Amino acid sequence: MPKVDGNAIRKIIFDNFNDIDVRFSNDEMLGYLNQMDQYKALDDVLDFEDVLLDMEKSGMLRPIAQNFNTRYYRLWNTLTPAKCKACGLATYFALNEESKVCPKCGAKM
Ligand SMILES: [Zn+2]
Repeated sequence: MPKVDGNAIRKIIFDNFNDIDVRFSNDEMLGYLNQMDQYKALDDVLDFEDVLLDMEKSGMLRPIAQNFNTRYYRLWNTLTPAKCKACGLATYFALNEESKVCPKCGAKM
């Protein structure tokens, strides 16, 4: 299965769900991923469960419910834009997230 770039998920959440009162699901994120050029041509199922689990562990995503394969989340804190000093990637982090690491180059942020 093709792996999904964690930064793509962060951007989708920032652009569409960046509010601590908004509930959103992995299915909704998948809908946005499927509109992106790098993913929409793929026939395979996109695999981003690991990415979401890491975001739960870091303190960004708050899992609130699960119904079969649909998982629902809220944000603990809203995301703010950040730029990696090492590679220049524009990304997004929640204030409370631990060990902020660039999703592209792995540098500490
Ligand atoms: Zn970087």
